[in-house]
Amino acid sequence: MRCPACGGETRVVNSRPHPVKNRIIRRRECCSCQARYTTAEGRISEVTKPKTKKA
Ligand SMILES: [Zn+2]
Repeated sequence: MRCPACGGETRVVNSRPHPVKNRIIRRRECCSCQARYTTAEGRISEVTKPKTKKA
């Protein structure tokens, strides 16, 4: 994912599940200009469903 400010490379600094199902919040930081922003990305648990539940 590219930085919306400068178009440089970004990295994920934090991620957490979103209250809405099948979504995840990712906090990203630009490697070039250090701009921080969050993205909500979905369809993570639709692809790979766990076969067993962890207690
Ligand atoms: Zn940037």
